[in-house]
Amino acid sequence: MVREQLEARGISNPAVLSAMAAVPRHLFVQEALRAQAYEDTPLPIGHGQTISQPYIVALMTELLEVRRGMRVLEIGTGSGYQAAVLATLGCTVFTVERLRELYQSTRTLLRQLGLRGIHMQRHDGTLGMPDAAPFERIIVTAGGPEIPRPLVEQLDEGGIMLIPVGTRPRTQRLLRLRKEHGNVRSEDLGSVIFVDLVGDHGW
Ligand code: SAH
Repeated sequence: MVREQLEARGISNPAVLSAMAAVPRHLFVQEALRAQAYEDTPLPIGHGQTISQPYIVALMTELLEVRRGMRVLEIGTGSGYQAAVLATLGCTVFTVERLRELYQSTRTLLRQLGLRGIHMQRHDGTLGMPDAAPFERIIVTAGGPEIPRPLVEQLDEGGIMLIPVGTRPRTQRLLRLRKEHGNVRSEDLGSVIFVDLVGDHGW
């Protein structure tokens, strides 16, 4: 990604800016859309899903306050781009996708890229990934009507979760939750537009 574009919009964390510059976004979109891969816009990735606009990926990555070595759960693997950015930052990424075709094509791509430390599963991510819990960070990249309880349970003490929540599809508020002494504190970080989170604790 073009660093100046992100800096102009307020992204300042040097590690996040470097990771965004390092991950080749054009490889995560269909060939026909490659020319647009470095514009600050969401793009279709097939199956009615989209890769988020780079600014949102950078913003969410910055808000997640990750450090090298952290265990991060992502719900909604999609193209694998957000997972690649987190892995480039040195996180161990556990990512869940519900759609078989996307899961398979993204798994192939991530293998080809040789990115280490990304563990993929295909199932309903609103149930989290119980066999790998707890997680220091959780990032949900699709929007549902509520905060899935299993995700709160799988968030480690001192952990941070970012999740878009809205009572109508494609209209959400981005929430940042912090779990401290068993209590969950929530901050509203503004309005966002994500594709639907579909599942037991989603739409
Ligand atoms: N983080 C992605 C953006 C993906 S779009 C990227 O960087 O490209 C959201 C994705 O969430 C879609 O692929 C959609 O299929 C997936 N999704 C929706 N509901 C889900 C669920 N319950 N569990 C897992 N994935 C889900």
